[in-house]
Amino acid sequence: MSKLEKIMEHNKNFINNKEYEKYVTTKIPKKKMVILSCMDTRLTELLPKAMNIKNGDAKIIKDAGATVMHHFGGVMRSILVAVYEFGVEDVFVVGHHGCGMSNLDTTDLVIKMMEMGIKKETLLTLYNGGINVESWLHGFESVEVSIKESVSMIKSHPLFPENIKVHGLIMNPETGEIEVVINGDK
Ligand SMILES: [Zn+2]
Repeated sequence: MSKLEKIMEHNKNFINNKEYEKYVTTKIPKKKMVILSCMDTRLTELLPKAMNIKNGDAKIIKDAGATVMHHFGGVMRSILVAVYEFGVEDVFVVGHHGCGMSNLDTTDLVIKMMEMGIKKETLLTLYNGGINVESWLHGFESVEVSIKESVSMIKSHPLFPENIKVHGLIMNPETGEIEVVINGDK
């Protein structure tokens, strides 16, 4: 059975058994908060439990490394929508120790791309168009520095209101313990 078939089979049972009933809520985040975190598999259930987030409590955005790379990219767009459309008052950037984006070997990644059929010419064309794939893929050396940079990207956005708090946290991916890097309350 393929992954899709397995999901569809599970889904049929999920609906038939009305397992969704305990998750019913609204799209307005009750705790008026948005969390930007990493796609790390260890955080899928651990992060909400460790932060006491239940269905309906918060907007959650995930990407590789919990990073805001561009002022006008998808992450920043989501944060602004959370603030202006869904009444979010606090933004939490939650990175974690042992992140796959720290010291990511981007040269190796490009080699893997070529092994999977991406042509050298394609990379060259991108390079000539001003896109250096390796530096674009590059993560960070220190999660603490990266969190601080993301917080400052958010706060310095021309469309981000001054009264919204932005916090920077680091989570232990085994225990869920939180370390405050930037306290937005102060
Ligand atoms: Zn990560």
